[in-house]
Amino acid sequence: RKCLNRIKKTQHLNAYITVTEELALKQAQEAETRLLQGAPKGPLDGIPIAVKDNFCTENIKTTCASRMLKDYTPPYNATVVQKLFDQGAVLMGKVNMDEFAMGSGSTDGAFGPVRNPWSYAAPYREQTGAAPDSDWVITGGSSGGSAAAVASLTSYLALGSDTGGSSRNPGALCGVVALKPTYGLLSRHGLIPLVNSMDVPGIMTRSVSDAAIVLGILQGLDIRDSTTIPAPSSLTELPEYFDVKNICVGIPKEYHAPGLSEENLAQWSRVADMFERAGAQVKQVSLPHTQYSIVCYHVLCHAEVASNMARFDGLEYGHRSEVDISTEAMYASSRHEGFNDVVRGRILSGNYFLLKQNYEHYFVKAQKVRRLIADDFKRVFSSGVDVLLTPTTLTDAACYSDFTQEDNRTRSTQEDVFTQPVNMAGLPAVSVPTALSRRGLPIGLQLIGPTLQDQKLLSVAKWME
Ligand code: GLN
Repeated sequence: RKCLNRIKKTQHLNAYITVTEELALKQAQEAETRLLQGAPKGPLDGIPIAVKDNFCTENIKTTCASRMLKDYTPPYNATVVQKLFDQGAVLMGKVNMDEFAMGSGSTDGAFGPVRNPWSYAAPYREQTGAAPDSDWVITGGSSGGSAAAVASLTSYLALGSDTGGSSRNPGALCGVVALKPTYGLLSRHGLIPLVNSMDVPGIMTRSVSDAAIVLGILQGLDIRDSTTIPAPSSLTELPEYFDVKNICVGIPKEYHAPGLSEENLAQWSRVADMFERAGAQVKQVSLPHTQYSIVCYHVLCHAEVASNMARFDGLEYGHRSEVDISTEAMYASSRHEGFNDVVRGRILSGNYFLLKQNYEHYFVKAQKVRRLIADDFKRVFSSGVDVLLTPTTLTDAACYSDFTQEDNRTRSTQEDVFTQPVNMAGLPAVSVPTALSRRGLPIGLQLIGPTLQDQKLLSVAKWME
């Protein structure tokens, strides 16, 4: 009830698309009965959670923040959602995002932008003199609703999705922990796809230990997702004390990217020094193909988008236009009315990259570059580096009015420079809040680990937290 009240009090954040009040009260009551009987279902029994609106939820609207799916109610739960329910989690609602998870601001959904809870907190107001309800800052995205839900204390855990940084970016900008697990460790069944070869469910929590518990619950093989892999260990509790003395922390030199703010750079150095003082070996490493990662990501992303979005034709489900002069015309106008221009733009360019005469030049080439990017990481990790320490974002959260200015659109693409290479390589990474900026806004740092070393990565993250 406290969480439901907070959702009402924080409605201005626009974090929730659907609040599942009735279900939440019912689930909470059942959990209470079990807890009073001393028979909890699992570690999440009675814990309030929020789920990004691109995970299917049985009999609960799943919109992807798009007009195309605004009335879509799936008949089943995504595997990760079902696993949370099996542990007794209480669903507070479905949370806001960029349309079909395309974006880095949570400003591009059909239900309006998400506001960063830190816009209303004392540090930001005092440091910047910003007036209430103006000058608010974005959450980052695309899982902005998930980050806002955790940061505003309306849920203890939120599911996001992460294709190129969509959980880690808003995690960093809203001051919450965001884990992007190894590709395949968590099932994508019921997660409406953006880029099938890169999508993973993201885990957003208030602490690293919480993220580890949730990872333990969600990981593992799923017969409904052929890309899943068995969990390497069932350990869910992190060691109370992890000695970083024996680890080697790599600092990729290419991540000194243009646009990295002085403050984010200073944080990065501060934490690197902290590792060094604690006895870890900190060394500079090189990931030479980083410079191609944004372009490469976008070619691959748009190509998969063009193919994934083909299912939304106005026939089986989703928005159907009134235009009925021909089937073709109905398709065209349903898609025109249903998708925003970011989605339509990606479909268009994706189809262009996939044209017979362009396929080799764009799609195949991007796949080759993707391999080179992944090999960079492999080489560094096999040279004895345990984790890489990098910034998560270039700056702290931007004001909504700045972020949405036309000339800044390219900047928002650049924002993913530290996160996208990780998805292309399928690696685990976690963003951890480490400080407040001069404007009183959170700054996060990212740790990247080798494939399937999620647990170790979290142990290091906990030390850093
Ligand atoms: N910002 C990236 C994009 O728009 C990443 C999105 C994501 O991770 N879902 O494609």
